[in-house]
Amino acid sequence: MWKNRIKEAASIAIGGHLHPDGDCVGSCMGLYQYLRENLPEKQVDVYLEEIPEAFEPWVPAGVIRHEAKEEKQYDLFICLDCGDKERLGFSMPLFDRAAHTVCIDHHISNEGFAEENHVVPEASSTSELVYGFLEDEKISKKTAELLYMGLVHDTGVFQYTCAGPATFRAAANLLEKGVDAAKLIQDTYYEKSYAQNQILGRALLESIVFMDGRCIASYITKKTMNFYGVTPVDLDGIVSQLRVTKGVEVAVFMYETGSSLYKVSLRSKERINVSKVAAFFGGGGHEKAAGFSMAGTPQDILTNLAGQLEEQFELLEEAEEAGDRS
Ligand code: 5GP
Ligand code: MN
Repeated sequence: MWKNRIKEAASIAIGGHLHPDGDCVGSCMGLYQYLRENLPEKQVDVYLEEIPEAFEPWVPAGVIRHEAKEEKQYDLFICLDCGDKERLGFSMPLFDRAAHTVCIDHHISNEGFAEENHVVPEASSTSELVYGFLEDEKISKKTAELLYMGLVHDTGVFQYTCAGPATFRAAANLLEKGVDAAKLIQDTYYEKSYAQNQILGRALLESIVFMDGRCIASYITKKTMNFYGVTPVDLDGIVSQLRVTKGVEVAVFMYETGSSLYKVSLRSKERINVSKVAAFFGGGGHEKAAGFSMAGTPQDILTNLAGQLEEQFELLEEAEEAGDRS
């Protein structure tokens, strides 16, 4: 059991995925805070890329390490919210060198790359899984805030189908610790800067629908990002907004990360498993939220993607027809 690994370890590193989102930051920092408060004798370090500015006030200051020192070797590396090892990015060498490794995650595409793996695709978030491992009476308000942030972000404020009874129970228990939920949700989830709203508007305005309105796509080039003075973290939420379009089943949003290199985000509403599509292109994720990176022009990428989406829609129709016949 990995909790014994924590007991045995004197030094522990916690690492999350590239481009950390609310669940990644919430689960990593929530676990950090819990360990710090309850096991102060242990060395606990957190490795994450730069986090969105809106999270800063909710996260212990000066804790996150953005660089992995070459020689560092930990007794235990706990990898959170990462579907595969590469998603750790700069902290991957620390994972490789650690004496023991544990992965706690909810990505359906996770094949279990650590020594011990706790992968529950049905869970709303990694924060929900981390919460399940902690002793409720030892959870402080600060830890609760961080885990609650993870629940909020990966469930779209408790609206996605991944939010089940266990999610609401965890949320209720965390609220009991005194979390100011309304403020946390407003400040970390809904609030946008003027530039973020502008780029959202631009992406919506330039979106196109295809496959009889069942799919919608939009993209933002580096040049456009520079024009509005935004970086990739400012683009969070665009794909979700595309998905709410009436009649749309799959939303696609792409942004340029290098010269003719695009990060592609996929969201489905109900029936298409986009993690399969992302996996086909070397990425991964969840049934209704997945992503990958691809070289080419947005038009090329979309043409390739449309072929795969078409296939998924055909499979779905076949399955539905077979269902009707039975
Ligand atoms: P997003 O579109 O918000 O970047 O990601 C949606 C989901 O897909 C997240 O759970 C994320 O971890 C996963 N994901 C996004 N991009 C990649 C990728 O390139 N590789 C893998 N394995 N997962 C990804
Ligand atoms: Mn997550």
